[in-house]
Amino acid sequence: MTEIATLGSHCALQVLKGAKDEGYSTLLVCQRKRERLYRRFPFIDEYMFVDKFSEVIRPENVSAMKDRHAVVVPHGTLVSEVGATEVLNGFDIPIFGSRKLLLWESDRELKEKLMTESGLRTPKAFASPEDIDRLAIVKLHGAKGGQGYFLADSPKTFKEGLAKAKKTGTVGANSRLYIQEYVVGVPVYFEFFQSPLSGELEFHSIDRRYETNVDGFGRLPARMQGSLLPSYVVVGNSPLVVRESLLEDVFKMGEGFVDACARLVPPGMIGPFCIEGVYDENMEFVAFEFSARIVAGTNLYTQGSPYTPFLFDRPMSMGRRIAVEIKEADSTDSLKHVTT
Ligand code: AMP
Repeated sequence: MTEIATLGSHCALQVLKGAKDEGYSTLLVCQRKRERLYRRFPFIDEYMFVDKFSEVIRPENVSAMKDRHAVVVPHGTLVSEVGATEVLNGFDIPIFGSRKLLLWESDRELKEKLMTESGLRTPKAFASPEDIDRLAIVKLHGAKGGQGYFLADSPKTFKEGLAKAKKTGTVGANSRLYIQEYVVGVPVYFEFFQSPLSGELEFHSIDRRYETNVDGFGRLPARMQGSLLPSYVVVGNSPLVVRESLLEDVFKMGEGFVDACARLVPPGMIGPFCIEGVYDENMEFVAFEFSARIVAGTNLYTQGSPYTPFLFDRPMSMGRRIAVEIKEADSTDSLKHVTT
């Protein structure tokens, strides 16, 4: 019998609770320091202890997971702590979703290519700091939750920001940087599920992120803001619905993304993904990111979102939706269609 496994962080509770609700036994790859936290939850059946998550790809751990017929549900921590290349080439265990897309997610240039091919409006990317001619956000590669990002509006302020970021250690000497136009507006994150078994695209939920310290700036008078540097580290998420008239475009964006994944990164999108961006002053959505796997914003909706009752007649979290797909694949001997 298949077991559902994930790393103990990010959205592990939701994933394993969803798996349990669908009748699966569950395995948590757990850092020893977090054992006390996770032991509080009765739906976690088995533990694999590690000191660092990167140890999960060690042959003895992989073979223990294989013995249990584990399917691993990847999330942001797998990408940030193990690395997309290592997951692609060195983690010989079935993963729910497309591991190639995790690599495209982690590489800024590939990411930009896929988003453009999807027909999404994207912010202008600057090839060189010398080209910065408007407000821009400077990002690091990989999924580290906005850590180390800084703003610049000219080559000069870029240099100043970079020097400061290196001094504080948020940007390393060899960090690869990606410079993108900063879009002012309302940040919105759309969460979808693409079912390879039914071929249907499901729109599940929306969240907003609370990021420190940028979301604290509005609580300060403008003259006090001047001396501070904003940072973009996600602390938590809050729920959101959008005007119903916007939904048609939301589906179009999701469909465009799924089509582009199928063309550029076969076999294409499998399971949860998220399109992340900003509605600008013209109510146009400018997408600055995607995640090709479950995002932590779905943790808001363990009992379902405002949108999931339109699709399911029982509480449906994204974690549970993953288990439903695995179960259906299991019962028709088609796990290979939902794992890579
Ligand atoms: P990311 O790691 O790309 O998801 O970005 C982290 C945060 O930085 C986002 O949640 C936004 O608050 C902000 N951000 C990233 N890119 C942009 C952009 N192009 N324009 C405005 N805000 C952005």
